[in-house]
Amino acid sequence: MPVGTQKDYYRTLGVDRNAKPDQVRKAYRRLARKFHPDVNPGNKSAEEKFKELSEAYEILSDEKKRKIYDQYGFYSDNIPPGGYGPAGGGSYGPPPTGSADGQGFDFSGFDFSNLGGEGQKTTGGGSFRDIFSQIFSRGGQSEPEHEERGSDIEHRMHLGFWDAIRGTQVRFSAARNEACATCNGSGASGGKSATCATCGGSGKTTRQVGSMKFSGTCPACNGSGRTKPRCPTCNGTGVTRRPETFEVRIPAGVDTGSRVRVPGKGNAGVNGAPPGDLYIVTEVETHPVFDRKGDNIYVKVPVTFTEAALGAKVEVPTIDGASTIKIPPGTQSGQKLRLRGKGAPSLRAAGVRGDEFVEVQVAVPRVADERTKEILRELARLNPDDPRKELKEKGAAK
Ligand SMILES: [Zn+2]
Ligand SMILES: [Zn+2]
Repeated sequence: MPVGTQKDYYRTLGVDRNAKPDQVRKAYRRLARKFHPDVNPGNKSAEEKFKELSEAYEILSDEKKRKIYDQYGFYSDNIPPGGYGPAGGGSYGPPPTGSADGQGFDFSGFDFSNLGGEGQKTTGGGSFRDIFSQIFSRGGQSEPEHEERGSDIEHRMHLGFWDAIRGTQVRFSAARNEACATCNGSGASGGKSATCATCGGSGKTTRQVGSMKFSGTCPACNGSGRTKPRCPTCNGTGVTRRPETFEVRIPAGVDTGSRVRVPGKGNAGVNGAPPGDLYIVTEVETHPVFDRKGDNIYVKVPVTFTEAALGAKVEVPTIDGASTIKIPPGTQSGQKLRLRGKGAPSLRAAGVRGDEFVEVQVAVPRVADERTKEILRELARLNPDDPRKELKEKGAAK
């Protein structure tokens, strides 16, 4: 037997002789990623190794080639599937023509000859990485082992100001994908299988990328060559979409843009993978008095000119009800006073609350009677301070 073809493909891929097709594929993927020329630029031995892996995979991933290899210890396209020798005979003679002379391999699909040097990683227009990803990207969702967590669902919900502050129980309906109950998510019906339309029953598809040809397992039938008719309930998608009613507790303190997670209530996963989550995204209505910014609440409180000047105790609204606040003497308009712990409940920690900020707005009296005007003029004389002194100094043109 020619030396060049006596290779232990099983050993190359590190799988045993009874390895299932998907074990072979997984082993190849794992090793091919490790020895890929892109990962090992300029490394000749990695490149050699990668060629060997590809060669081994080419044979072991193909049911017919693997059978021939298992039988003869090597593979050649020239070996008829039934083997050499008289029909039905158990023995085989030498190959009829120079098939096993070292050129028996159809290696045309794996021409790596122009990938050797650094900076020479392109073939037929596509980068090696592109080609590589094309080998492994399998269109369609029909690969049985292909598991994918279900996607999350976002459900927008409008909430009143007080419901957001105090928390509330909400009931709503949202459409979500579930694994189809008829086919258990497989997408196939229980009917008779038919020849796969994608590969014509061969179980293999060939992909031409530039000058390279890759053959792989047919994604539509996963190499079996047969496909089952589509499940009529889900039309082959494996999922059904239907509305579901949820009852969810919205915690106290949500704000516009808060996301309340309902675990496991997103869309169903693919092939038994876990489902995604459902998120309630809240939109909280504004309040005419309480202006919320995060966990803090802002309230504008008008005070009289005399209250601001002399100081006073005034009643201010808070989300807990009215509260008394002390206005210090000489409080200016726009000054903010803090009421600690009177803000909205924090979602970050139980029992923690923001603050309320009271913005003082000095209301100027509208005076009509002469007596008041007189008093105010007297006041001006007693307090000749110019409030625009600083402004004049700093605002002066230079
Ligand atoms: Zn179905
Ligand atoms: Zn197929």
